[in-house]
Amino acid sequence: APGLNEEYTFTNFVVGDNNRFAANAAIAIAKNPGTTYNPCLIYGGVGLGKTHLLQSIGNAVWQEKDEAKIVYVTAEDFTNEFIRSIQENKTHLFKNKYRKADVLLIDDIHFLQKKHETQEELFHTFNALFDAKKQMIFTSDRPVSEIKDITERLQNRFTRGLTVDLQPPQMETAVAILKKKAEKQGVYVANDVINLICQKITTNVRDLEAALTRIIAYAELVNKEVSLEVAQRQLKDFFSSPTQNNITVDIIQRVVADYFNLSSNELKGKKRTRQVAFPRQMAMYITREITEASMTDVGLEFGGRDHTTVMHACQRISSRMRTDPTIEDIIQTLIRKIKEEGS
Ligand code: ADP
Ligand code: MG
Repeated sequence: APGLNEEYTFTNFVVGDNNRFAANAAIAIAKNPGTTYNPCLIYGGVGLGKTHLLQSIGNAVWQEKDEAKIVYVTAEDFTNEFIRSIQENKTHLFKNKYRKADVLLIDDIHFLQKKHETQEELFHTFNALFDAKKQMIFTSDRPVSEIKDITERLQNRFTRGLTVDLQPPQMETAVAILKKKAEKQGVYVANDVINLICQKITTNVRDLEAALTRIIAYAELVNKEVSLEVAQRQLKDFFSSPTQNNITVDIIQRVVADYFNLSSNELKGKKRTRQVAFPRQMAMYITREITEASMTDVGLEFGGRDHTTVMHACQRISSRMRTDPTIEDIIQTLIRKIKEEGS
């Protein structure tokens, strides 16, 4: 469909346990837009296929019925367009465009936080389309309840239909995604190279693809198949562990646990009593401060927690530090100990 990437189709979307529910919902919606699952909200971390899935719905509806008016927009563009329409006295055109859609696809709605007027406008667009039984699908990089500064009534609308989530792919699915991609480009990449990439990159499909692209580019330049050894060398910076110097997350967990008379396992475990939760939050905060680990990495290192949990922990600790100097002292002491251990 116009305005959509034609590569983003259901055929090109590899289904695994991590995304099956979302993919099936999307397929069902494309078959019967505006009926059962309206609206639909797809949420998941960066690079997990939200945009791909969202546009696949648009492309599939278009295939069936090319007079259908399919409108895809990122929340950011929606916002900018709305502001411009106000400045140019053309809000009627803006309203017309969005309220006449048969299928409205809005990507990355977390961008709407704090954009109050745009939220208001979207609320009315929503109601108009909902009443007319037009399909709406939204994506977000976090659950709607965690989007800050968004009106309750809009939150409410977003989650009124079906909510599905995307998780990082397991090994088999990751391998299938890369094989499909290599095949599409007509390039042979050895299985052990694909396995290597999938073992090392576990959080995000975009990074998986970027690593494969690098290998393919290299293979084409040297005009021969890439061996495991060469792949390892070529991808070194992709694989650099989420740590700096010799400081590992293990060391951080050990030092923090020791300091609070806990074990590393308790720090990574499920218990949420204050005695464990607070040291755990500190350890997460420190990991973010002194290593290169992303929120997602930290979550995985701490018992497979979600990146939003890590984000909250970090926010909590930094606000406590501002009001309570002893906490800042403890953090400094811990960081010193960790650096000693890691050197
Ligand atoms: P997001 O919008 O969640 O950040 P994208 O939809 O842009 O992620 O996906 C990132 C890249 O990964 C895209 O090139 C997309 O085609 C690819 N991708 C993600 N999930 C899959 C999948 N299940 N099968 C095939 N490709 C995928
Ligand atoms: Mg996206």
